Amino acid sequence: MKKIALDLDDVICNGGFMHLINDFLNSNYTENDVKGYYMQELIPKEKEQDWRKYFVNHNLYDYAVFLEGAYDVIKKLNEKYDLYVISAYISRDMPEASAPMLSNKFNWLSKNLPFIDPSKYIFASKKEVFECDIRIDDKLSNLKGNADLKLLFDSYHNRQYSKEELDNMGVVRVNGWSDIEKLLLN
Ligand SMILES: [Mg+2]
Repeated sequence: MKKIALDLDDVICNGGFMHLINDFLNSNYTENDVKGYYMQELIPKEKEQDWRKYFVNHNLYDYAVFLEGAYDVIKKLNEKYDLYVISAYISRDMPEASAPMLSNKFNWLSKNLPFIDPSKYIFASKKEVFECDIRIDDKLSNLKGNADLKLLFDSYHNRQYSKEELDNMGVVRVNGWSDIEKLLLN
């Protein structure tokens, strides 16, 4: 069986982090308002301290939803491949407050993808240390490392990369779970 390293946030599920930001700011931001990768850059400087307190006391996975098609395709992939979910949990801004994030991710995965054995969750920031055949991630830098196939999951923060740039890095963009199904399940 070929080994897959599959990212969680913005590949399997999304929406939770933006929900918390909007709830905190009483705003209606969408992904299109985010300039880079980090949604928390929508938080005004003067509210940063309050935001940190708010964030550590809320579970973004209470508001996370599956991306369209994710559940069904992952279920099929899990039968045909040696599938691992790999997700970083260290907070860039508050590393000392990262432990609840790990637990929230674990709980969301075990509740929502019960057919994946928890021993196949990998919680790591440097994803390239994990050896696998296929990598699927929305963050380009997470596709570093050896793999026969590297799939960049289309997302608000990665649309600036042209096909030519991705070709040069051996990376293929996928626009959703139906693309992954076509590539890996036919
Ligand atoms: Mg991600």
